[in-house]
Amino acid sequence: MVKIMTQLMTEDGIRCDGRRLDELRDISIKVGVLKNADGSAYIEFGKNKILAGVFGPRDVHPKHMANPDSGILRCRYHMSPFSVTERKNPAPSRREIEISKVIKEALQPAVILKDYPRTVIDVFIEVLQADGGSRCAALDAAAVALADAGIPMRDLVSACAAGKVEDKIVLDINNEEDQEGQADMPVALMPNIGKITLLQLDGILKPEEFKTCMQTALVGCKRVYEVQRKALMEKYFQSGEQ
Ligand code: ADP
Repeated sequence: MVKIMTQLMTEDGIRCDGRRLDELRDISIKVGVLKNADGSAYIEFGKNKILAGVFGPRDVHPKHMANPDSGILRCRYHMSPFSVTERKNPAPSRREIEISKVIKEALQPAVILKDYPRTVIDVFIEVLQADGGSRCAALDAAAVALADAGIPMRDLVSACAAGKVEDKIVLDINNEEDQEGQADMPVALMPNIGKITLLQLDGILKPEEFKTCMQTALVGCKRVYEVQRKALMEKYFQSGEQ
């Protein structure tokens, strides 16, 4: 079978979806979209469409998982069968299990669990449509949903990927760039504390490229933070202003 390669970038640095190297896809976040969850958020990050619902703190089942000294955080990232071009098996794949784990580890430093011993906070993430960078978009929605649930947090968590395409470092990799580009590096940041809670790299970067890629991703995280903050302000202060 002959594979047709997409042209990922024009000579003047315009990407396959029309963006410049340092341009994010459009992001919109809506807070409190599910009446039955304690907190929720819906994010559109480019063509990614993702819902996050939070329950808790509540009793832990099974009980032996409870920690007498602290609450626990559980995360489930799940892709719906219609979220990608070929029907995805609804059973959790290895990829979804890995992403659930990294999302939990990226959120955990921000959540203050010690005041809720023997309880659990559950974060359920449903990817309705995926288009590259879904773990970052899922994290962005989950952090907002946790805040919406009134869970005490040290900071929000804002995530965005950067990567390498046609030998150039670019912000916010889309699906084509993920499949055919040279590197994809998702990063999550607690933007006020300034700590990184997720760093993954799929591909190879030279040390200088790694530095630029990291700086680029962090700029993206800070821009995402502004959108998250505004979405929360809109729900809790109507005007969206402080
Ligand atoms: P992320 O979505 O965080 O970038 P990956 O790099 O693993 O995670 O996946 C990149 C993209 O590949 C996804 O966003 C999605 O568009 C696509 N993808 C993932 N799993 C599947 C699948 N089972 N079938 C088709 N496309 C998939």
